[in-house]
Amino acid sequence: MDLGLTGKWALVCAASKGLGKGCAQALVNEGVNVVITARGDEALQATAAELRALQRGEVRAVSGDITTPQGRASALAACPRVDILVNNAGGPPPGDFRAWDRDTWIKALDANMLTPIELIKATVDAMAERGFGRVVNITSGAVKAPIDILGLSNGARTGLTGFVAGLARQSRLASANVTINNLLPGPFDTDRLRNTMLGAAKASGQPVEQLLEQRRKLNPTQRYGNAAEFGAVCAFLCSVHAGYMTGQNILLDGGAFPGTF
Ligand code: NAP
Repeated sequence: MDLGLTGKWALVCAASKGLGKGCAQALVNEGVNVVITARGDEALQATAAELRALQRGEVRAVSGDITTPQGRASALAACPRVDILVNNAGGPPPGDFRAWDRDTWIKALDANMLTPIELIKATVDAMAERGFGRVVNITSGAVKAPIDILGLSNGARTGLTGFVAGLARQSRLASANVTINNLLPGPFDTDRLRNTMLGAAKASGQPVEQLLEQRRKLNPTQRYGNAAEFGAVCAFLCSVHAGYMTGQNILLDGGAFPGTF
């Protein structure tokens, strides 16, 4: 299927590794020009080189912290126009809410709620003027089925989800072919998953490989998701074929969520 995206420009945030990289790869494979960001320049440049080797579109790499005004300004400045915005940033740390003070909460809200909102604010009206725009927010399966130790993530991402639910339905955007959707990852084999499991291993005294194996077996597919299949769904949501789909929360979890809907 031709996704109709050749020559579009995408800003893919937090994309040197993991799910963001999977989205950037899938978009570049569709002929999209991308601006990718991350804080660590080494991994970012390596990923940019991999994407350039696909020889499908222009690839620009901007190092910086996307949760800061400066990081967002640099990323936006590098993108001639943003037809596609993939919002992503690292997830907040696990813990007990009794240990979190106001600053901890503000940091989580900044990263996983206010940063995507700021980037949406900076881009969607111009998308509407051009008659095409796609925003995909990488959130978490925790929005649908909260994970107790990830309270910061549950809270911040649910705030974003509620905001997006209202914004996506504004006629000014929806009637101008601008869609805003959320992709909710379940367990994907990335650094983030391994680091979270390392924390759990330390806390429980069990070997990390044993915990990873237990978690894998809990999933109906008996495996973890991979970044390429996450990216493929992102690319479809960004495609010309997905213009009638907005304000949705798409769970990619191998069937782990046990509900009918
Ligand atoms: P990952 O493999 O650790 O990759 C995270 C990427 O984001 C890296 O490229 C990292 O590079 C970049 N990044 C992190 N913070 C950033 C910041 N402030 N500014 C710019 N770039 C930043 O993580 P992932 O598994 O792909 O996770 C992506 C998102 O999905 C996270 O929010 C995570 O919580 C969520 N999620 C993941 C899973 C899962 O199973 N993997 C499940 C549910 C939710 P630098 O560190 O160099 O900046």
